[in-house]
Amino acid sequence: MQAQFSGKAELLILLNRTLSHLSFMPSTILSIAKPDFALTALSRMASDVFQLRIGFVNVFFIGKKSKWFLIDAGFAPVNANLIVRTAASVFGKSNPPQAILLTHAHFDHVGALESLVNKWQVPVFAHPLEVPYLNGGASYPPADPAVGGGAMSVVFSRFFPVGPFTLNYPVQNLKEGPFGPMPGWDVIDSPGHSPGHVSFYRKKDGVLLSGDAFITMNQESFFSSALTHLPEIHRPPAYFTQDWEKAMASVRTLAALKPLTVASGHGQPMKGKPMQNALHKLAANFKDFIPARGRYVKQPAIFDETGPVFVPPRVWDPIFPWLGGIALATLVISLLSQTLSRSSASEKRV
Ligand SMILES: [Zn+2]
Ligand SMILES: [Zn+2]
Repeated sequence: MQAQFSGKAELLILLNRTLSHLSFMPSTILSIAKPDFALTALSRMASDVFQLRIGFVNVFFIGKKSKWFLIDAGFAPVNANLIVRTAASVFGKSNPPQAILLTHAHFDHVGALESLVNKWQVPVFAHPLEVPYLNGGASYPPADPAVGGGAMSVVFSRFFPVGPFTLNYPVQNLKEGPFGPMPGWDVIDSPGHSPGHVSFYRKKDGVLLSGDAFITMNQESFFSSALTHLPEIHRPPAYFTQDWEKAMASVRTLAALKPLTVASGHGQPMKGKPMQNALHKLAANFKDFIPARGRYVKQPAIFDETGPVFVPPRVWDPIFPWLGGIALATLVISLLSQTLSRSSASEKRV
């Protein structure tokens, strides 16, 4: 099932896999294209569907000049400029979208939302179970660095914001089923990674925007996330996934659609038989891709429309003492070097 590559691409794939295994990630499922080092990239997945990569996340433009929609909103307020500029190049200047739709409200999908609504003043849609994290009502439960999977999980996820984000703007409910303003597109409930996560699917040409329900690169690996963006069908980002049973059911729901082209919150768009096989494999064997341990592995977090109502206790985090040790060693070294430089300065004065 593995596609053949030559030269640098093969080396990078090998390196990526080696680093992933060293960091206890479940084995990579499938890589079917070349690495892509671009920090920003606009890809066309269908005549009226575009993916804009902004660093490690994606946003999507759906539609034509006469009527278009934005899906998700980047990871930082500063992304608003790029989104507006790119939208203008595709749909023309001063042509705002009909609405902004959110797959979910994690920080890396709503970063520029406030800046964009301030500029465009268009309706915002999200599933009701995501609204508390947008309107200041609640924070998501903490990320789970104990799941392993790579440096993004083990180290960086500790510092990812979980809200609450205070968007002073009305958010309308996104309901499962056909989304009227975008004819042909269905909203598919795909919870698990987050409580009210949704995906978007168009049956006519089999285009699926999965959000983070499954993704198309290994977002948990810093190497893949920051550098290569190697395409692969991958479980949802583990550090933020808080109900693994629901995440499994969602992947199975999405795989059963038999999409022809998929794109997600992280990674390159993928299509064709190898992608379909990899998605089928992830759905069929999902239990093998649930982390062996982690805060939300044995017990999920439970949510209602006001926010989390139950959050499992923290589990033993093997990396934490190491990080504490490194911080302590850094402090001791810096205090020692300050003391030494002070004493050598006073020796010189004598
Ligand atoms: Zn997410
Ligand atoms: Zn994400």
